[in-house]
Amino acid sequence: MTAQIIDGKAFAAKVREKVAAHVARLKDDHGITPGLAVVLVGEDPASQVYVRNKGKQTIECGMSSFEHKLPADTAQEDLLELLDRLNADPEIHGILVQLPLPSHLDEELIVNRVDPDKDVDGFHISNVGRLATGQKSMVPCTPLGCLMMLRNQLGSLSGKEAVVIGRSNIVGKPMAQLLLGDSCTVTIAHSRTRDLAQVVRRADIVVAAVGRPRMVPGEWIKPGATVIDVGINRIEAPEKGANEDGSVKMRLVGDVDFDSAAQVAGAITPVPGGVGPMTIACLLANTLTACCRANGVAEPEGLTA
Ligand code: NAD
Repeated sequence: MTAQIIDGKAFAAKVREKVAAHVARLKDDHGITPGLAVVLVGEDPASQVYVRNKGKQTIECGMSSFEHKLPADTAQEDLLELLDRLNADPEIHGILVQLPLPSHLDEELIVNRVDPDKDVDGFHISNVGRLATGQKSMVPCTPLGCLMMLRNQLGSLSGKEAVVIGRSNIVGKPMAQLLLGDSCTVTIAHSRTRDLAQVVRRADIVVAAVGRPRMVPGEWIKPGATVIDVGINRIEAPEKGANEDGSVKMRLVGDVDFDSAAQVAGAITPVPGGVGPMTIACLLANTLTACCRANGVAEPEGLTA
């Protein structure tokens, strides 16, 4: 069998189109423009790229983008004060604090200072609790993107055996909650799981969120299973030659060994071009959802859990 490749880039473009169409209607019918504030503390180069991309795509969807770039030595009180102002600002419907934060800042305290209704990352403790108890919540972007792709691929997920590898608060745990919400039989595997190969072999749906390059080989995959590879790992790619400074070029691979898994799976997401592009698309979708809820306007269908 050769798996169907799930094109996350194309799917994310469709999600963004849907968001943009709804944003245009919100403006025309209600005079409301959704606004997203992104807070970046420090100069981490990867975070700067993410924040730039988020701002660009927010504007392309017709929403307002507010960027707050703070120096690495920002005092905690000053950051909390900024969040309080953003929480109170009616033009801002979504707030995202780019993680990781410099080590002198208390990440838990800061994440929980964001108004849960504006918490478009879905990391606030009350959104975590709402998701776990099946209430309306803001859903973390990466697992939400995975859920959208799975529903699009498989239709109903009810009764399917799902194995999530990884138990982080950002991906693994919320992913498992979402799959449970869609009536899958869910197993969460992690670094202490015994005989992971055997656990993965029973899965109709495999979501790999570990951060170990190509650790899931094709021989672990049940024939016909749907495989969602969340992992982003940078490995050396000597086949691409050397950089100008003589260092080896790098490339991205997932947690799944794509070549062997694609021989067995029914469908699989590539890395890059799978889950990654869906994450920002879901951030935009969450901002729109938060704006609709704040204004008592009907939410667009299919953009949340
Ligand atoms: P994390 O380090 O917080 O969690 C990794 C999890 O993997 C842990 O729960 C751990 O128990 C489990 N694990 C470690 N070794 C294992 C093993 N040998 N067998 C089974 N489980 C094992 O990582 P995270 O934040 O959840 O991210 C996971 C991966 O997903 C990373 O590669 C990250 O870059 C990527 N990621 C991608 C996106 C995206 O937008 N595509 C978003 C977030 C994270």
